[in-house]
Amino acid sequence: MRTAIYPGSFDPLTNGHLDVIERAIKLFDRVIVAVARNESKQPLFTLEERLKLVRKSIRQLPHVEADSFDCLLVDYVERRSAQAIIRGLRAVSDFEFEFQLALMNRKLNENIETIFMMPKDTYTFLSSRMIKEIAQLGGNVGSFVPAHVRTALCDKFKTKSAPI
Ligand code: ADP
Repeated sequence: MRTAIYPGSFDPLTNGHLDVIERAIKLFDRVIVAVARNESKQPLFTLEERLKLVRKSIRQLPHVEADSFDCLLVDYVERRSAQAIIRGLRAVSDFEFEFQLALMNRKLNENIETIFMMPKDTYTFLSSRMIKEIAQLGGNVGSFVPAHVRTALCDKFKTKSAPI
């Protein structure tokens, strides 16, 4: 059983994240989307809210599950008997941070590989941060996130739901 962990803040999950998950499950028997608590990043959604949004988004995807973690990533990967960490690479701007993270994780546990996946080109500009900014200003994020994530964003910012 080959298992990959896809860790992130998922604050909130976007269609870019979903694209990466759909690609990863073609390579592994099981993909666990692991929502990091990451309080230091002051997330908009609580851990429980982020996990719920992820769970609803992956409901139709076989062999994909969601979980949360609050420890060192490599320890979590080992605890779940996984072999790899999936990360998404959008542009050169992601590269330096992701490169450092992957090498540090390898130093911490050399048995775990990091695999980078590129999303569909239309998602390369998409980030949770940008989605939050657009939603806060009342913009329509309907084509960037699943419908229930859009509703959750509207509720958070108390903006009126615009038609998709
Ligand atoms: P983190 O706080 O760990 O960066 P994110 O939820 O922002 O968590 O992202 C999790 C992973 O998904 C990261 O590897 C990030 O580069 C990747 N990612 C985020 N948005 C996209 C996207 N639109 N396309 C592909 N990968 C993405």
